[in-house]
Amino acid sequence: MKKLIVITGASSGFGKEMAYLFSRAGHPLLLIGRRVDLMEQFNLPNTLVRKVDVRDASEFEKAVREAEQKYGKVDLLINNAGMMLLGNVWEQDSDEWQMMLDINIKGVLNGSKIVLKDMMERNAGSIVNISSIAGRKTFGNHAVYSASKFGVHALTETIREEVASTNVRVMLVAPGAAETELLGHTTSDSIKEGYQEWKATMGGTSMNPKYVAESVKFMYDLPQEVIIRELLIAATKQD
Ligand code: NDP
Repeated sequence: MKKLIVITGASSGFGKEMAYLFSRAGHPLLLIGRRVDLMEQFNLPNTLVRKVDVRDASEFEKAVREAEQKYGKVDLLINNAGMMLLGNVWEQDSDEWQMMLDINIKGVLNGSKIVLKDMMERNAGSIVNISSIAGRKTFGNHAVYSASKFGVHALTETIREEVASTNVRVMLVAPGAAETELLGHTTSDSIKEGYQEWKATMGGTSMNPKYVAESVKFMYDLPQEVIIRELLIAATKQD
């Protein structure tokens, strides 16, 4: 059997695409998210589905250790779970800021801490953090989301340098706008409408999430001694 892959935020969007793609390639999986019913409906072979909020480090670790008992050590952790709540800082509820910072940054840190020591001891293993083009450039209404994703770039590159001598790869994919459920959580209707108008400038649709999944797989499938440190993928027409 191929090696164990852990995917956070697997119930929809990029995470769901990656679950199907890596399962088709023969990997056992641990799928993590809160909407466990959706992930169970995928009905994938050699797959453990666990209801875990990535902010809860102990539940996260419990699920990873359980999967390792069944399928062996984690070879790839994809820190994909994320939340985008667009807003202007002078209007947005600070609870929304906190939620983005906790899920988008602390969730990634929690996952990394759970797998890294063991990977370093084995001189093997990979982490892919899903950031965003908003972690490289700014967009209106994105202040806190963008801050969280710039943070993901910073922590990814820092950890990559720290562990590189052990042959462990810490990589980052920064997608542009894609057709997923992400925008749906934003609470401002006018901002959501503005986003749809902006998407019209890309021909009405944004990137198909399957290309992000394929990018992650391409990066992972390279030999362990080679690393794509960062990959930015977006619709050609996106600004
Ligand atoms: P979706 O909203 O479709 O997926 C987000 C996933 O994250 C869901 O499966 C959700 O599952 C999970 N999730 C959210 N909060 C938590 C939590 N606290 N604990 C565990 N799981 C959680 O959006 P995308 O697929 O687009 O988002 C995936 C990643 O891609 C995010 O990090 C996002 O920031 C990033 N991204 C997305 C872009 C886009 O345009 N779509 C562009 C650039 C980056 P559940 O609700 O079941 O917990």
